[in-house]
This record gives sequence, structure tokens and C-alpha cells, in this order.
Amino acid sequence: KAKELGKNKFMIYTKELEDEKNLKLSIEKDLGNAIEKNEVKLFYQPQYTVDKKLKGFEALFRWKNDKYKNIPVIKIIEIMENSNLIIDMGYYIIREACKFAEKINENAKEKIIVSVNISPVQIMDKDFVAKIKSILKETGVCIDCLGIEITETVLLKNIEENIKKIKELKDIGIIISLDDFGTGYSSLNYIVKLPLSIIKIDRSFINGMDLQDEYTKILRLIIESAHSLNLPIVAEGVETEEQLDKLKHMNVDYIQGYLFSKPLEEEDALKLL
Ligand code: C2E
Ligand code: MG
Ligand code: MG
Ligand code: MG
Repeated sequence: KAKELGKNKFMIYTKELEDEKNLKLSIEKDLGNAIEKNEVKLFYQPQYTVDKKLKGFEALFRWKNDKYKNIPVIKIIEIMENSNLIIDMGYYIIREACKFAEKINENAKEKIIVSVNISPVQIMDKDFVAKIKSILKETGVCIDCLGIEITETVLLKNIEENIKKIKELKDIGIIISLDDFGTGYSSLNYIVKLPLSIIKIDRSFINGMDLQDEYTKILRLIIESAHSLNLPIVAEGVETEEQLDKLKHMNVDYIQGYLFSKPLEEEDALKLL
């Protein structure tokens, strides 16, 4: 009986694997011409000061394709990372974000920073720095209106080269954020090793404050450490007034989350000025 059950389980397992593999292949294939078919749209989530002055936006990839509308963005990103599709898609995303940054800064009184998520696979492309420079030139956007968001995973492989590339971008004026801080293996060590402009505290950490007092205490420590290194803090995934209030009292600099706004279509984002 047990053997039968085991066998059955194995079959279900392989069927799932098979389905998963086919789904991936189908996604990869359809992503191949998603840009030409006009299915790739960036959404922009505003970032504010604690007293709700607009500071910048995070650009977020969205794929308008009904076939895959239930698949989380992060999963699509992972598939692109594993197939290197992220490299060309990434340059498209950076270009679109730069065009948006140029547009929004045309009428803004104060500089608005538009930040793009960058995965390590993108950084490892040998043309990464040159391509970004050429996109900046081509779009004519002010250099310090562009930000990139990286995670600690840039330190898993090709560490020295990656740091060198990020430093080169920072030196020309691009704003470098460390994303999702507080998750994974994040340690204060990364804040020292990486050339950074901003620290983004992960949403799970903001949630954590509601559940356990310890999170609040550790958060206070992180904020203090970052500030002593002259790094401002963005709190991600802020959803409630209570969270905002706590973060304000802890001297967090910027807020991003559903409390202030969901990610918006470009048209609506431009209206925020
Ligand atoms: P991330 O960079 O940490 O982006 C923040 C995510 O949190 C976004 O999810 C955003 O929609 C969501 N979010 C913002 N505020 C709230 C909130 O108050 N509550 C909740 N529950 N969620 C909130 P999204 O757009 O699904 O993106 C997921 C991840 O996919 C991103 O995490 C990022 O790692 C990756 N990603 C998204 N766009 C790109 C891209 O253009 N390029 C690359 N390489 N990665 C991207
Ligand atoms: Mg991000
Ligand atoms: Mg994040
Ligand atoms: Mg993330």
C-alpha cells in the first residue's frame, strides 16, 4: 500500500514538474516578442517624505498578457533571469523609466528620482555600464534623476566586478538603493561593502513591527546605523497610519506603500505633480 502511494506521489510530482517546465517554456517564448506586441508596461509607485511630499517613484515591470495574468511579477522576473531574457528586457525597462523620469522632471519644482530594479544577471552583462550611460544620453534625462535598486544578491557572484560597476554608476550621479534590507542574509556588512545612496527596509520588517516589539527595536538600530553613515531610509510596504506614525518617530526618511499609493500607470503617475 505504502509503495503504491509512494509511486502515485512520484507521478504527481513529475506531472507538476512537467507542467511547470511547459509553463516556463511558454512564458519564455511569449516574452520573446512581448515588447513588440506592446504588452510590457511599467507601473510607477510613488515614494514620499513622511509628511507626504513627493520624492520619487519605483518603476515596476508589468506584463499585459491575459494568459499569465495570475502569475506574480517576481516569478516572471525569475524566469527572465534564468533565461537571460532579463538583459534585453532590462535595458528596455531602464529606457522607459528614463523617458518617464525626463517627462516628470520637466514640470517638477524639485528633482524626482525614478528607480529601476536591477538583478545581478543584468549587472554581470559586460556592457552594463556603457549601455546605461548611452541610455542616459539618448533620453537626455538628468543623471541624478535615475536610481537603481539592487539587492545583497549582487554579492553572491563576481563580487569585485559588480561592486566596481555599481561604483562607476554612483560616481556619475546615479542613485543606488539597497532593496529588501532586513531579509535574507542582509547584514550591516553589505551597507559597508556596497557603494550606496539609500537603504530600503523590506516590507516584512514593517509588518513585523505590528507583531513583535523586537522588530521595532532592531529597526531603530538599523536606522541609526544607516543615518550615521549618511544613508537615508525608505520604508517599503507601509499600509497603515500606525506604521507610518511609528516610522516617523523613528526618523525614517521616505515612505512607499499602499497607505499612500499603489503602483500607478504612467498617466496617473504624471498627474501626481
Ligand atoms: P521590490 O523591488 O521589493 O518591489 C516592491 C514590491 O512590493 C512591488 O511588487 C510592489 O507592488 C509591492 N508593494 C508596494 N507597496 C506595497 C504595500 O503596501 N503592500 C504590499 N503588499 N505590497 C506592496 P511587484 O511589483 O509585484 O514586484 C515584485 C518584485 O519583482 C520586486 O520587489 C522586484 O524584486 C521584482 N521586480 C519588479 N519589477 C522589476 C523590474 O523591472 N526589473 C527587475 N529586475 N525586477 C523587478
Ligand atoms: Mg525594488
Ligand atoms: Mg523591495
Ligand atoms: Mg524584492
